[in-house]
Amino acid sequence: MNCPICGSKKARQIRTPYHYAASGLDNVYLLGVPYMRCSSCDDDIVVIPHEQQLLDLIAVDLVRPRISEVPS
Ligand SMILES: [Zn+2]
Repeated sequence: MNCPICGSKKARQIRTPYHYAASGLDNVYLLGVPYMRCSSCDDDIVVIPHEQQLLDLIAVDLVRPRISEVPS
């Protein structure tokens, strides 16, 4: 598989959970998003579908109080 960045044939598809570092959070992983890792670029190449909506959902989940945190 060719890397879309450098054209190297050393890119391979990865199906393990993707660490979504672009979210700005250390503990956000995306399941079911196939991505490529290029050993020539030493980078991951991923296309996040509907990325803005995903970021909005993450933001809403961050500020949503957990059941254990709601005062009774
Ligand atoms: Zn590359």
